[in-house]
Amino acid sequence: MTHNDNLRHGNCFCGEVTFEIELPTLFCGHCHCSMCRKPHGAGFVTWTAVPPERFRIVSGEDHLRTYESSEHGRRQFCDQCGTQLFCFHEKPNGAAPDLIDITLASLSEPIDRSPEVHFHYDSKADWTIVNDDLPKLGGETGTEPLS
Ligand SMILES: [Zn+2]
Repeated sequence: MTHNDNLRHGNCFCGEVTFEIELPTLFCGHCHCSMCRKPHGAGFVTWTAVPPERFRIVSGEDHLRTYESSEHGRRQFCDQCGTQLFCFHEKPNGAAPDLIDITLASLSEPIDRSPEVHFHYDSKADWTIVNDDLPKLGGETGTEPLS
């Protein structure tokens, strides 16, 4: 492969699953929904995303397990170390996802942006302390402005 300054590499905790993305990313934000909180064991999870054509599993695909966390979302994690890695959002019509969510913590190199928003902020755990000025979104989609 030719050298590409836009490639960023990532892996799970045990290293079996490795992947790469190509910048630019589509967004970066903290998600406070309970479907993120529980499997990650964390108050919120920081995600970035790229279109499918800028995402590639490099190794360990046979270690990826898929959990359908909702009618329209599939989460993937390593079956050896349990690291939560990716989330795929199906469209209502069953079409392929147009973006893949990737846990920022699984990336080993800086991306092209810092976290810029809070999603599902109205589902935030009471014990999570947030003291930044980033936009706080919520509602049914988790991406609507909160009054
Ligand atoms: Zn692993």
